[in-house]
Amino acid sequence: MNKRYRKTIIAGNWKMNMLPSEADAFAKGLSEIMGKKPPCSVAICAPAVIIPAMVKASKGKSIDVGGQDLSVYDKGAYTGEISGAMLKDAGCKYVIVGHSERRQYHGETDAEVNLKALKAFENGLVPIICVGESLEQREKGLTLPLIEYQVKAALNGMSDAQVKASVIAYEPVWAIGTGKTATADEAEEVCAFIRETIKKLRGSLISRGVSILYGGSMKGSNAPELLGKPDIDGGLIGGASLKPADFAAIIAASAQG
Ligand code: PEP
Repeated sequence: MNKRYRKTIIAGNWKMNMLPSEADAFAKGLSEIMGKKPPCSVAICAPAVIIPAMVKASKGKSIDVGGQDLSVYDKGAYTGEISGAMLKDAGCKYVIVGHSERRQYHGETDAEVNLKALKAFENGLVPIICVGESLEQREKGLTLPLIEYQVKAALNGMSDAQVKASVIAYEPVWAIGTGKTATADEAEEVCAFIRETIKKLRGSLISRGVSILYGGSMKGSNAPELLGKPDIDGGLIGGASLKPADFAAIIAASAQG
């Protein structure tokens, strides 16, 4: 499947790290290393309170900004929630949806992930939809059926154009923040399966346009092999997105994808 039909994206997920006061130095540092024209789309998905500082710091630097979650509601009495409209108005392009930490610690269901992805589009945001299996599920041979279920559930009710514009991140839960990376072949097997699942649902014109990212302890040393695989169109990066040099090494590796 040809990568020219889709965008390569390297997105950082800062999780609950960094401070508003650190956004400027990060953006300057990253821009200095990667230059004004990086080989792929670059984004930082920052904690909500850092978004305004990151949007300001990223101006003219080829860095897009994203949120890490959004509410299924539009507005009103939902203390602590952040709406899609708020993220859009603050300058976000992307929003992560259904990260395994939200599924695990906040009980987020596949139905909510689907609602959030639809809300993202309603508000002009691109959802980065996370799917992935636990170690136990992998060991029981349940990886592919689970991924198929998660992908189908997340895309439910979307138009073909929305499916094509969605970004899917395959993040095996056992590889997130653990230092254990899926081998490039393991990651490619699941990313290709995700594309095949979308092809069965919507046809190849749609499936070939969907950017599918790998996430799980990606770093400069393993990025070239992962990003060289035909169905891996980028990365969702946690730990290695916190330092400009580490993140820039992954961005540079995307050039050979
Ligand atoms: C993530 O949280 O999406 C992630 C992939 O984290 P890490 O790169 O630290 O494994």
